[in-house]
Amino acid sequence: MATAKVTIKAIHDTDLVKILKKLGLYEGVVEGRYRCFVCGNKITLDNIGGLFKSRDGKINFVCNNTKCLMIAAEITSKISKE
Ligand SMILES: [Zn+2]
Repeated sequence: MATAKVTIKAIHDTDLVKILKKLGLYEGVVEGRYRCFVCGNKITLDNIGGLFKSRDGKINFVCNNTKCLMIAAEITSKISKE
């Protein structure tokens, strides 16, 4: 299953707000409640790079820093392989 990867891709396109609202995470992002999983920067609508679900079902965010996106892609590919 490559669900996590697809989510990261979709966010680059357009429907970020729609996805966040669907997942019930929109308010939290607007309020600055989340931090980048990799670098710890606060996630906002301006710098959000993607999100992925870890094995325990927790949603993690990454910012749009190239390094963070690459690490997130690595993590999600590992999760989907297991
Ligand atoms: Zn980051």
